Amino acid sequence: MRNVMRSFRLSLLFPILAVFTCLAQTPVEQVIAEALKPSALDNNLERLTDRIGGRVPGTPAMEKAVQWGIEVFKVAGADGVHTESFSIPASWAEGATSMTIVAPEQFKVRAISLAWAPALAPQRHVPIIDVGEGNAEDFAKAGSVAGAIVLVHSEEMHTWADLFGEYMRVPVTIDLAVKGKAIAIALQSTRPHDLLYRHSNSPEGGIDRLPGIQVAREDAARISRLLASGQKLYADISVPNRVGGATTTSNVIAELRGRQDEKPDEYVVLGAHLDSWELGTGALDNGCNAALVVDALRAIQASGQRPRRSIRFILFSGEEQGLVGSHAYVTAHRSEMDKVAAMVVLDAGIGKVTGFSLGGRKDVLDAVNELATPLKQFDAANMTTDATYGTDNFDFLLEGVPTLMANQVEENYLINYHAMSDTFDKVDLARLKQHVAEAAAITFAIADAPQRVGPRLTHDQIAQTLSETHLDDQMKGFGVWDDWATGKRGRQK
Ligand SMILES: [Zn+2]
Repeated sequence: MRNVMRSFRLSLLFPILAVFTCLAQTPVEQVIAEALKPSALDNNLERLTDRIGGRVPGTPAMEKAVQWGIEVFKVAGADGVHTESFSIPASWAEGATSMTIVAPEQFKVRAISLAWAPALAPQRHVPIIDVGEGNAEDFAKAGSVAGAIVLVHSEEMHTWADLFGEYMRVPVTIDLAVKGKAIAIALQSTRPHDLLYRHSNSPEGGIDRLPGIQVAREDAARISRLLASGQKLYADISVPNRVGGATTTSNVIAELRGRQDEKPDEYVVLGAHLDSWELGTGALDNGCNAALVVDALRAIQASGQRPRRSIRFILFSGEEQGLVGSHAYVTAHRSEMDKVAAMVVLDAGIGKVTGFSLGGRKDVLDAVNELATPLKQFDAANMTTDATYGTDNFDFLLEGVPTLMANQVEENYLINYHAMSDTFDKVDLARLKQHVAEAAAITFAIADAPQRVGPRLTHDQIAQTLSETHLDDQMKGFGVWDDWATGKRGRQK
């Protein structure tokens, strides 16, 4: 009897305790608790990747992905969802790329076109010239490359630095190949085991200057060994890319309005790109983080908490063609950039988030650190003040808006980056769930803070940040410096 009474009392006590625990939780903790609950996250990602597949702007798959975005945002409880379309200068699709070594031996080479590279009509018996790593010295050593295919070696890629190195090196090599009147460039894949991936060098979605292919690592090594042995090699090559005029695509934008009595006209952006390359299904890059953005909206809405400021959840298109979608958004919304309190973005697959890169903003470090305290339980509160070119926070940064780009450990991202192997099975769904909690928490915290984490920088302050962080060098390497220097891009003086 007494035991029965005790358990009766306990059973009464539990709901009361639960209510108290809930009341004791801060709004951010409630957002985290909601984020960690089961949701449509896995199913949304499975639909986006396995069913819709790779999503290149201008293709039916990208259109379906935009419809997916509208639908899942609505189901997640957005106050409003709309699309904003913009144009990419050229459309592009690969045809049946082929390259065969025809003399002295015959073998087929595993190769694909570089993305947004021009087509190359079938050519027979083209000499191949090894230009080592493709720098000026290498070209000088190689002699004339006129009318040849230039073969460019690479190291295997293991780190973010390796990847950035690849993007910085290739445009220089292309310049030299164009100058030397080569007919095409052949880049050795940086991944072993015949793995091929999309590589694009054209900033802002224009067509590149020279036809180019990527050759499987092993085949490139074989060709290089044969050349080193003193043989002359000739290839038949055809790169029948379909290149078209400008194409239209759309960003998908959902909103949760801030509290009416507070600052609903100010807002924080949580974004990720929805487009992807099409060799795989764009799961790590960046389907998982597109699904995360949707689930973060769901979690905040379900928590019943309204932040002081509004939050815009944006799925960008055209990222892979050179951040075209986020650039278009910032350009279209330039008049309201003063009202953007911060921009948060994730674009590195499922590698563990360690914290956020603050785009060179030392001035926001203390405020962000304080707001990120709840992320310590996930070991995701380590902020860095570096700045990199590479994803959709870039144009916000150039407008002086504080940006937070997730710093993520490489893990399985780099080997599968833009590759045939970037598929749903690579996504650690439990980890993704945790990242939803982290992204929702920091976004909500910034949106709900009484004070903004920092001001919008002036043109001169931005210029100083670019120089301090050496982002200016990266911008030169990626071919986007002139846009800033001429005032075409970024905050005006
Ligand atoms: Zn990406």
